[in-house]
Amino acid sequence: MLPRVDVILPLAIRDTYTYRVPSSLPIPAPGTRVVVPLATRQLVGIVRGEHVITDDDLPEEKMRDIILILDAEPVLREEQLQLWQWTADYYMCPIGDVMAAALPNKANDRQYVLAESTRRRVKLSEYTGETVPPHPLDDQQQEAMRSIKEGWQSHDVVLLHGVTSSGKTEVYIHLILEALREGRQVLYLVPEIALTTQLTDRLQRVFGAQLSVYHSRVTDAQRMELYRRLILSREPRLIVGARSAVFLPLSDKALIIVDEEHEPSYKQQDPAPRYHARSIAIVRARLLKGKVLLGTATPSVETYYNALSGKYGLVRMTRRYQGLQLPRITLIDLREQYHRKEMYDHFSDPLVLRIREELARGKQIILFQNRRGYAPYVQCTDCGYVPKCPDCDVSLTLHTKNALSTNDYRPSTIHHRLTCHYCGSEQSLPDICPQCGGKMRVHGFGTERIEDEVAALFPEARVARMDLDTTRRKDDYRAIISAFAAGEVDILIGTQMVSKGLHFDNVSLVAVLNADALLSQPSFRSYERAFHMLEQVSGRAGRTENTGSEVIIQTFDPLHPVFDWVMRHDYNAMYDEQINERELFAYPPFTRLITLTLRHRHADRLEAAALALAQRLKAVFGKRCSDVIVPGVARIQQLHLRQLQLRIESSASITRAKVLLRPHIETILADPAYRGLEILPDVDPQ
Ligand SMILES: [Zn+2]
Ligand SMILES: [Zn+2]
Repeated sequence: MLPRVDVILPLAIRDTYTYRVPSSLPIPAPGTRVVVPLATRQLVGIVRGEHVITDDDLPEEKMRDIILILDAEPVLREEQLQLWQWTADYYMCPIGDVMAAALPNKANDRQYVLAESTRRRVKLSEYTGETVPPHPLDDQQQEAMRSIKEGWQSHDVVLLHGVTSSGKTEVYIHLILEALREGRQVLYLVPEIALTTQLTDRLQRVFGAQLSVYHSRVTDAQRMELYRRLILSREPRLIVGARSAVFLPLSDKALIIVDEEHEPSYKQQDPAPRYHARSIAIVRARLLKGKVLLGTATPSVETYYNALSGKYGLVRMTRRYQGLQLPRITLIDLREQYHRKEMYDHFSDPLVLRIREELARGKQIILFQNRRGYAPYVQCTDCGYVPKCPDCDVSLTLHTKNALSTNDYRPSTIHHRLTCHYCGSEQSLPDICPQCGGKMRVHGFGTERIEDEVAALFPEARVARMDLDTTRRKDDYRAIISAFAAGEVDILIGTQMVSKGLHFDNVSLVAVLNADALLSQPSFRSYERAFHMLEQVSGRAGRTENTGSEVIIQTFDPLHPVFDWVMRHDYNAMYDEQINERELFAYPPFTRLITLTLRHRHADRLEAAALALAQRLKAVFGKRCSDVIVPGVARIQQLHLRQLQLRIESSASITRAKVLLRPHIETILADPAYRGLEILPDVDPQ
C-alpha cells in the first residue's frame, strides 16, 4: 500500500483530508505545501503529517493522489503547526480556518514557490536612509526597563502599565535593540493599522532595514516575501504588524510586544478563527520559549487581574515623560446647556469658546465622535417611520459626504445616501416619507455632520476627518496624519481611530462630543471600554507642553462614575469597581464565556433549533447555559440570529466543557429539521 498523508485545506469543513503519495513523489514533510484534488477542483494544502490508518479509511482504489509538492522545504515549522492546532482546539474551529487566517493570501497560489531559488522575487520596500541611535532613557524609563527584564526572570509575560505619554515606546525600542543584539527576533503588535504610520517612521530611524511591516495595507506579494524570508532565515529582525502577524514564523526565544493590549481589535470577530492575538502571543511565547511584554496605559481588567495575582509580572510608569502634566478634564452638562439654550448644533457654548481660543493661539484640536456617517438614522416627523435595511434588522445611516467605496466614486453617489453599516447596502434618501408623505428628519450625529457644523462655526479653520470612510485607500491614513502633524490642518475630527497612540506635538484641546454613546453599549465591558477610550483620547492632548492642555467631555449624564474615574485618571478605582462587579455577576476573569451564535434563513426553524440546543445544554451544564438570547441586531444579510451563552467557572476545565459541548452542536447540525443552520462558537467573546 502506498503511504498516505493528512492535508490541511483552507476550508471550514473538517480538520484534515487524507491523500495518497504516488510512488513518483517523495513523502512530503509536515508543513510542506501540496496541490491536491477535491471533487473537481485542485487546492493548495499543507501537509499535517503521515496518516495513521484507521478502520474508517477509504479503500486503496478510492484514495486520491497528491498532484504536486510545491516547495522543497516546509513553509510551516512544527511549532507553527502546534500553534495552529492549539488555535483550532481552543477557538473551536476547523484547522483550515486557522490556515486561512495565518498564511498570507499568496500562499494559496500554486504559482508562488517558497524556495531560495525562486524566480518570482519581490523586493521588500526597504529603508535605505540613515539610522540614528535611540533617545537616551530617563530615570523612570531606565527603572522600567530594568524591572521588565527582572520580571522575565520569573514570568513569561510582563505587563507594563504606564500612563499615557510616559514614554513606553522608548522603553520598547531599547528592549528591541537588546533582543536584536542577542540575535533574537521581535514581533511588535499594534491594534490598528492607523498607528503603524507614525510608529514605523520612528522605528525605521533606529532599526533601518532590520524592520519589516506586515498588515493588510502591505501588498500580498510583499507579505508573501516577508513570510518567505522569515521561514528561510532566523536572522534577527523586527516585525511590526497587526493581529494576524502573530502567526508569522518566528525563531526560538522571540520577544513579542503587544502594545495597547486592552484594545478590542486584537480579537478577530469574523470569520473564524475568532482568536485574540494577545492570547495567541502568550501561547506562542510558551512554544518558542520566548517572552511577552504587554503594554498599555489602561490594562484590560483580565490582564490587570493576572498581573495582580502574580500570573504576570507587573511594572508601572506613573509619571509622564519629562514631567508633563496630565491634561485638565472638564465635563460639560448637556442637559443644562440645552436648557439654557447655550448650544450651537452639537457644540456647547463653552466648547465653542475654547476652540476659538485655541485656534487663535495657533494650536490644534481633536474632536472625537465615535460614529461615522452624517446621522445614525432618519425618521418621519408624522408617522415615525424609520428606513431600515431590507436584509438586516438595523436602521440605515445617512451619509452625505463621500462615496463609501472610493473605487466606486461617482458624483451621483456623493449626496444623501442611506447605508447599512452591517452589509453595506445603499439606498437614496426619500424626499418625503414613503408611508405617509410626511417630512423626513435626521436624528443624532456622526463625524460627517460634525464636519459640517465645524465649517459653519469656524469657517477660517482647516479641517480634516479621519474615519473608515476617509481611509479606505492604502495611503489615506498617512496623508491625513502627516497633514495634521505638519500643521496643515487645525481641527481633526475622528472616530476611535484618532484615540489610539497617535502623537501630535501641537494639540492642546481634545473634545469628546457625546460621551454617553460610549456608556450605553450592551456589554459587561462597556464601562471598562468607555474608560479606556476616554483615557486614550485624553492622552492625545498636551504631549509636549504643560500650558493649559485640556480635555472637554460633553455628556447628558455628568454624574456617571466613569467620568469621576477619568477626571482623576484613576485606573485603580475603575478596576476595583469592575472586578467586584465581575465577581458578583460571574463574568471573566472569574468565568470563561463561550457564545454560540445560531444562524438561519428561516426565523421559525432557527427558534426551534435554538430551543432544542438550549434544552440539551441545560441538561449538561445546568445554570451555566443561558436561555435563548435575541441579539441586539437579530438579522444580518437575511440571516436570523439567536445566541446561547455558556459560563464556565475559571476553576473548571474549559477543555472539558468543550468536549461536552461538541456532540450536542453536531447533533443539532445533523438534524434534517434544521437544515441550513449554522452554529458559530466564540470562545472568550469580547
Ligand atoms: Zn410618515
Ligand atoms: Zn444590511
